[in-house]
Amino acid sequence: MSRSHELMKAAERVIPGGVNSPVRAFRGVGGQPLFVARGEGSRITDVDGRTYIDFVGSWGPLILGHAPAAVVEAVTETVRGGTSYGAPTELEVRMAEAIVAAYPSMEMVRLVSSGTEAAMSAIRLARGATGRDLLVKFDGGYHGHADSLLVKAGSGGATFSIPDSRGVPAALAALTATLEFNDVAGVRELFRRRGHEIAAVIVEPVAGNMGVVGPAPGFLETLRDATTGHGALLIFDEVITGFRVAYGGAQERYGVRPDLTCLGKIIGGGLPVGAYGGRREIMANVAPLGGVYQAGTLSGNPLAVAAGLATLAALRMPGVYDRLEHLGANTERGLKEAARSAGIPLTVNRVGSMLTAFFCDGPVTDYTSARRADTKRYAAFFHGMLERGVYLAPSQFEAAFVSLAHSDADLEHAARAAAEALSTL
Ligand code: PMP
Repeated sequence: MSRSHELMKAAERVIPGGVNSPVRAFRGVGGQPLFVARGEGSRITDVDGRTYIDFVGSWGPLILGHAPAAVVEAVTETVRGGTSYGAPTELEVRMAEAIVAAYPSMEMVRLVSSGTEAAMSAIRLARGATGRDLLVKFDGGYHGHADSLLVKAGSGGATFSIPDSRGVPAALAALTATLEFNDVAGVRELFRRRGHEIAAVIVEPVAGNMGVVGPAPGFLETLRDATTGHGALLIFDEVITGFRVAYGGAQERYGVRPDLTCLGKIIGGGLPVGAYGGRREIMANVAPLGGVYQAGTLSGNPLAVAAGLATLAALRMPGVYDRLEHLGANTERGLKEAARSAGIPLTVNRVGSMLTAFFCDGPVTDYTSARRADTKRYAAFFHGMLERGVYLAPSQFEAAFVSLAHSDADLEHAARAAAEALSTL
């Protein structure tokens, strides 16, 4: 039995499903998860001593790759002075300034400890600021696991919502309406009927949690117009896309300015951080300035903020986003060529350095079309890649992330592995 397998057996005795976050358990692809011993650059090494080119990147934060020297040094230097004080520090101010400088829609920002907290707090703020309760989200959109956000459409469509998780009160789920991503007509129709009830629309401007699905032309603009027209707020959940699809996130890339933005992942450089922010008059509702309560023992944690600041400094170097575009495009090309020569239908959706290869004929524009993908084929592909030293997300409905640590040689290796793995399917 491998060391990973032994550890999984031990883990299953004391941790539900053996994991601290469900997708890590490999239920989407079958087989045994690998336990990671260390990471360096584009690679991870498991506890059995096997090394893989990593396209998970801790699910998005590691845009510089594993253990980049600048982050390791910043964290090491900071930790010598302690780990947390429960009192303000200069580093938090520098992080807030860096975010505000990069995101003109964010005049003020509050740091929290996860993306879940960022989204949960942003919707509380939106409800508090508008005095309305109804929230709109998109099917297949993930915004962390707060009660109001674990909801997708029931067969009644946008009107009658059912919770996605046991333990979420139906009464609360009823306050979340869901629509298909990219459904411009659906958005207009919902606002025509219920616009006066809607506190906010929350959206991943590039969906990353149904696999990668970009916004159709006009979709984000429609959300902007509908919310403005009805006194509702537009929340961009840029936990994945922030500092990923551009330094200024999807709002810079697509030129649509939300009222509130959620950040996470990259701004923590691989340590736990989230943030939410927006216009000054909206943020003035947050305690202690206003009556919307939100707090955190480790919020703005010095180690996490130091790691994040080091990451953002690296991302401000010239040519970084061109390089990410180049690496993303190469990965996409490698996958497409491999699929073509193997005669396997594959639709690759990519925005910059985040991409998903869906095992279906395209196009994939929303959750319904994403779910047409052949998950059994994905599972076989995943294991074929793993055997060839490439670690992909253990689920069809996730993004692959390319980092600045990936070399052209890494991508050639991955493309060769894909060609071989696909030819055996
Ligand atoms: N929003 C988005 C868009 C995410 O992708 C995620 C996590 N993958 C979250 C929120 C929740 O973040 P966390 O896991 O840090 O709570």
